[in-house]
Amino acid sequence: MQSFQQYIGGAFEDAVASFESLDPATGTAWAQMPAASASDVDRAVRAAEAAFFSPEWAGMTATQRGKLLMRLADLVAENAPRLAELETRDTGKIIRETSAQIAYVSEYYRYYAGLADKIEGAHLPIDKPDMEVWLRREPVGVVAAIVPWNSQLFLSAVKIGPALAAGCTVVLKASEEGPAPMLEFARIFDQAGFPPGVLNVITGGPEAGAALTSHASVAHVAFTGGPETARHIVRNSAENLASTSLELGGKSPFIVFDDADLESAVNAQVSGIFAATGQSCVAGSRLVIQKGIKDAFLQRLKEKAEAVVIGAPDDMATEVGPLCTLKQRDHALRLIEASVAAGAKLVTGGAVPKGQGFFFPPTVLDCSAAPEAPCLSNEFFGPVLSVVEFETEAEAMEIANNTAFGLASGVFTRNLNRAHRMIRGIRAGIVWVNTYRAVSPIAPFGGHGLSGHGREGGLQAALDYTKVKTVWLRTSDDPIPDPFVMR
Ligand code: NAD
Repeated sequence: MQSFQQYIGGAFEDAVASFESLDPATGTAWAQMPAASASDVDRAVRAAEAAFFSPEWAGMTATQRGKLLMRLADLVAENAPRLAELETRDTGKIIRETSAQIAYVSEYYRYYAGLADKIEGAHLPIDKPDMEVWLRREPVGVVAAIVPWNSQLFLSAVKIGPALAAGCTVVLKASEEGPAPMLEFARIFDQAGFPPGVLNVITGGPEAGAALTSHASVAHVAFTGGPETARHIVRNSAENLASTSLELGGKSPFIVFDDADLESAVNAQVSGIFAATGQSCVAGSRLVIQKGIKDAFLQRLKEKAEAVVIGAPDDMATEVGPLCTLKQRDHALRLIEASVAAGAKLVTGGAVPKGQGFFFPPTVLDCSAAPEAPCLSNEFFGPVLSVVEFETEAEAMEIANNTAFGLASGVFTRNLNRAHRMIRGIRAGIVWVNTYRAVSPIAPFGGHGLSGHGREGGLQAALDYTKVKTVWLRTSDDPIPDPFVMR
């Protein structure tokens, strides 16, 4: 069995406790992972804090930080195949997706490398004579970054990249489900030449997460995960009033009008819900479809869903792999059962295939006659699509916004005016029009409502890792008069 180490203060070490990680394709243990104790968490935060104030890091120019990030980007690109293999093995995310995604992750580090020396302050035209006033943008301090198991290299790059560009230091807690790619990433990071403690990588479950987010030396918590965990994190971070950015789940509407290019829309829906085996926060998991085209659309979707190649995640031919955990699969089964009991009709899928591993087939549930079905409001985090029909644009908008989440949305129509009305009316952080699931380091990403707050990607994300210091400098050579004489 392979074993992995945690990374604290620039050193690799075993933790006192460890746990076994399961291969989701077989359901068997394949590696031993270090379980960070509260004292490991404390040492990691102290290492990050020491690095934050060290002359090696605090005294480094922003340009030099950018060069280190650029070196990291190159190393991630060079090591992408190995990182992809590990992410596939430990989380079940299929190799054709991990290979493409991790190669692109290096572009995120490249983007933030370029941004490091463009995070500028400002000079204020102040309303007083003989006074210079300017704003310095300074790093917030130690950042606690917490990620879930899906796409960890990607979800950590959108935190580590801007945080280091801004001059912060980071303690990253990888998910206890499939931490291998992040522990391996630590080895790659170590080669880039950053001072020790600038990034620390640990893993463990809720206890390690709680110890990290409530630590008095943490200035900002950057979290991706579920809304329930986010509530714990906000409560814990309240201890030291750390700021938070929360990237949470979604129940994103994928709206198709009858004037859309149907084949394009079907293809985008297939990847929108079945890519990443549905374990994607932006999954277009509610198909909101105009009544006149519903039957034709569902027929085409069913054919495509049933033709999907389900198989071993490390096989390049596989299109849908296993879910990451047995818990996820049980959750999907329970939610389907409850939705069918509420009147939803199974169009395809829904049954666990025979054999080992946590596999689950592409599934479509028609809820047009069951508006209260729980699958319309609860996140599956699996390859399950819920369908609702509409007749008018107003109905489409109402259904789209009938959710406590607000992360992503898709609109398929050839009518430009309608597209603009939908863009204005949809309550979500992202609207994709005639496309779906496109991401870029240049474009901010994040949600509203139960989908969280704060943005990752783009310039704003780097600014969020800074705080403003206002500087007043008096330029007059005249002595400051005695205030009591003035009175
Ligand atoms: P989760 O919330 O259970 O766990 C996420 C992380 O939080 C893990 O590292 C876990 O160990 C940690 N954690 C658990 N309890 C904690 C506590 N009390 N304090 C601090 N940390 C704690 O999420 P999950 O089930 O692993 O992931 C799936 C969720 O993540 C879904 O809801 C999904 O939509 C969301 N997600 C969101 C995005 C996004 O960018 N918006 C991206 C991917 C996943």
